[in-house]
Amino acid sequence: MVHFVGAGPGAPDLITLRGAALLEAADQVIYTGSLVNPALMEHCRPDCRILDSAGMTLEEVMDAVFHAEEEGRTTVRLHTGDPSIYGAIREQMDALTKRGIAWDVTPGVSSFCGAAAALGAEYTLPGVSQTVILTRMAGRTPVPKGEELAALAAHGSSMAIFLSAGMLKELERELCRGAYTESTPAALVYKASWPEEKTIRCTVGTLAESAGRHGIRKTALVLVGDFLEGNYDRSRLYDPGFTTGYRKGEDSA
Ligand code: SAH
Repeated sequence: MVHFVGAGPGAPDLITLRGAALLEAADQVIYTGSLVNPALMEHCRPDCRILDSAGMTLEEVMDAVFHAEEEGRTTVRLHTGDPSIYGAIREQMDALTKRGIAWDVTPGVSSFCGAAAALGAEYTLPGVSQTVILTRMAGRTPVPKGEELAALAAHGSSMAIFLSAGMLKELERELCRGAYTESTPAALVYKASWPEEKTIRCTVGTLAESAGRHGIRKTALVLVGDFLEGNYDRSRLYDPGFTTGYRKGEDSA
């Protein structure tokens, strides 16, 4: 059996209880060493085989899993944040299914949630944005037609941009080809929830310069949108004048 587990954004106590229990029971753990906090391995039994996938190919990861399966041993495949976001899990699931090996997935706290927590921000502010776009700049991995950053930026919604801290000048340009301007609020969150976490508030036009000043080139999220500013409408849900399925408001009198 293989358990795909979301490790959370970094802090070892941000893994789920289920994820921690699976780590404790695992015979083998293969973790994404470039991003997962090694402190999480403290959950593992002393005899657990621990592999860092950072230097491994998909084939090598699968061979390690198949080998464990032949010996009746379980594997935890530990991915950073939530495995469904840029986790490259689908190809692993398909390879397992093809071999008749059972697997399941335990979700994790994605770094875009960790980043909002670090900033004390809410992506979905009434009157500001009710949509969050999770995306990335095209890099060595291209993005499909229609998902170019400038096209997504046309919505002016809240955005969390992954895997793009190394190309911020290009990112600024793409964002401004959409609905944002150089003065649209933006933020960089480096290593959200790690001890070395950094949060930098800036604007779309100063992303590259701000990152340069703080030496940030990777493991950072770029957040963009007016949700980073002070203006918004109060929620309907908690408005005394508004009736909901759970509460009679003044509007029903
Ligand atoms: N599955 C992960 C994303 C993996 S892609 C998740 O759900 O968060 C790797 C990218 O995620 C990095 O380039 C960076 O943009 C972002 N990232 C991962 N961990 C981060 C953290 N603790 N703080 C800020 N960004 C992070």
